[in-house]
Amino acid sequence: AKRDGPGSLRLFDRTLLEEAERRWQIERALRLAVATSRIEVHYQPIVRLADRRVLALEALARWTDPQLGPISPAIFIPIAEESSLINQIGKAVLMQACCDAAAWDGALAGACVSVNLSPAQFRSEIATVVEQALVISGLDPSRLILEITETVLMQDSGTTLQTLNQLSEKGVGLAIDDFGAGYTSLAYLKKFPVHKIKLDRSFVSDLEDSEDSRLIVEAMIRLAHVLGLQTVAEGVETEAQLAFLERLGCDEVQGYLLGRPGPLDRILAARLRAAAN
Ligand code: C2E
Ligand code: CA
Ligand code: CA
Ligand code: CA
Repeated sequence: AKRDGPGSLRLFDRTLLEEAERRWQIERALRLAVATSRIEVHYQPIVRLADRRVLALEALARWTDPQLGPISPAIFIPIAEESSLINQIGKAVLMQACCDAAAWDGALAGACVSVNLSPAQFRSEIATVVEQALVISGLDPSRLILEITETVLMQDSGTTLQTLNQLSEKGVGLAIDDFGAGYTSLAYLKKFPVHKIKLDRSFVSDLEDSEDSRLIVEAMIRLAHVLGLQTVAEGVETEAQLAFLERLGCDEVQGYLLGRPGPLDRILAARLRAAAN
């Protein structure tokens, strides 16, 4: 085989270099944003299918850098996870979310707040961080739901189980995010104090076109119910998807169809309008 010419080699190097530079630029800007409390929290409603009531809002981190513009959490969370920044970001989002939830009322009275935790946060004092957020905000622990991914359950360990049990005993809820996308062994669901599973968006987007997907989703919902767990479908965008999920017995739904993520005041205004109709 012919070796690549020097031109293509240089191009390859440059792309890698540009990527590394961009990443480093983002990390530096992120460090500053964290230090100056510029990470914001937006919310997206999680709705009960039976009566369309908002049961919870999911807290989603948002960041707009003055130079770089808005950066998606799909970009900056993984970068934060590779440094220790994720602990600070996670703590800030949790604190903000608990304080917001403790204060919201009217159309949102009693609704829970659902907060994403990164696997890396389990390597630090996460139970203490959660307890502090609850004490400072005054939020009833039963109104906090922690969203973790399968990775957390699969990385070891006695301490993770102990931590989650400790939080669960206080009344904090636990949801498995992106369920079905990874390799969760069903045994994990029984071992850990899990309350909800969030069906990954990929299953929902296939519902309309694939009988297999419908069967898989139906089986996951049945299994969850057998284990006494609630099911949330993520990424619901169409009425057709909603209708399938209702028929398959899904408990809760979240997605653009039900409401896009936004700042708390916009979510509140939308709920007030919905209540007036
Ligand atoms: P996730 O936890 O699975 O959150 C759901 C993502 O799907 C959000 O993306 C949300 O805006 C998006 N989404 C909601 N409904 C729809 C829909 O109908 N269609 C489509 N196409 N997308 C929908 P977002 O806000 O960009 O967040 C991306 C990911 O970043 C999150 O995925 C989560 O893994 C992570 N993330 C966000 N905030 C935090 C945080 O505070 N801490 C941690 N550890 N991770 C976070
Ligand atoms: Ca989530
Ligand atoms: Ca998810
Ligand atoms: Ca995700």
